[in-house]
Amino acid sequence: GKPEVVIIGRPNVGKSTLFNRLVGKKLALVDDQPGVTRDRRMGDADIAGLHFTVVDTAGWEDVDAHTLPGRMRAQTEASLEGADAALFVVDARAGLTPLDEEIGRYLREQSVPVVVVANKAEGSAGEHGVLESYALGLGDPVPLSAEHGEGIADLFGGLFPII
Ligand code: GDP
Ligand code: MG
Repeated sequence: GKPEVVIIGRPNVGKSTLFNRLVGKKLALVDDQPGVTRDRRMGDADIAGLHFTVVDTAGWEDVDAHTLPGRMRAQTEASLEGADAALFVVDARAGLTPLDEEIGRYLREQSVPVVVVANKAEGSAGEHGVLESYALGLGDPVPLSAEHGEGIADLFGGLFPII
């Protein structure tokens, strides 16, 4: 079947906005409240003829496994199991947080190929965050703006070699 690409990252970085942009529909719930995506959502994506199934996930929360955010984290980890690639979304405007670094550490230990997405990179406010995200040690970040639809095609170069 089609390769499966999972979108992961901490809450509020724009995972669901990117998902919506990739599938071209308002399938995922976008909200200013962190962690609003409670379920996995799947859709068909096509970047310049590169077809894949994209999966939106809930964000990670740095709390124990018995809370709801902890279960969302477990669900994110589970969603990586069948995945052919992961898009690890960070917020270029906010810069890296300790939770981004924790997720980065986790991903470096997994075998799934990762493309780092430096989202919210429209304008110049994200420039520092884009540079910072090289330090995740997961390859060159792809700067884009899911909300403004800028740089989406640049994901082709990151995904094509791995899916
Ligand atoms: P999620 O929790 O990671 O799924 O994040 P959401 O997709 O729900 O987005 C969280 C917030 O970030 C919302 O207010 C979005 O409008 C905003 N957002 C998403 N993408 C961008 C972007 O490219 N640029 C800016 N400036 N804001 C964005
Ligand atoms: Mg979401």
